[in-house]
Formats: sequence, C-alpha cells, structure tokens
Amino acid sequence: MASKKPNTKDSFQPTDKVKWSGIYDVVHGKGCKHGEHQVTCVTNEEFPPCATTCGSGVRFRLYEAAKHLGEYKRFKKKA
Ligand SMILES: [Zn+2]
Repeated sequence: MASKKPNTKDSFQPTDKVKWSGIYDVVHGKGCKHGEHQVTCVTNEEFPPCATTCGSGVRFRLYEAAKHLGEYKRFKKKA
C-alpha cells in the first residue's frame, strides 16, 4: 500500500507512477543539457524519460505536493 503522506526524500524514475500530484524537482543525468528544473506531475500518470540525452537516467523528487484541480470534488467539471 502507498503511504498517505508524501515523502520528499523519495526519488522516482521513468515508468514509476506518480503518487502525489505536485511540483517535482527534475534532475537529469550527467551531460544532459537540461540540468535541473521543475515540473508539475499529476497522480497516476507515469514519469516520462528524458527526450534529449539522459533518457531513463532522469530522476524526479517531490518538491511540493499540490492536488490537481480535477482531484477535488468541490469544483464543477467543465461541460
Ligand atoms: Zn535529460
């Protein structure tokens, strides 16, 4: 079972499922021109491999969890 609380020490790799929506620090492999940056990931999607140099060598670490708008029932869905 997945734990209920996000652990910011966990590091994820491509093909891992996103457990918590939020902002992730992305660390690319050595020599990849992308270096470090941040992305927003959404629950149940898979972390993607880098499209440029490092491929599956890229790692994702949760920076700040934030539920995606669609995960909240209290907002109206678009028609
Ligand atoms: Zn890369």
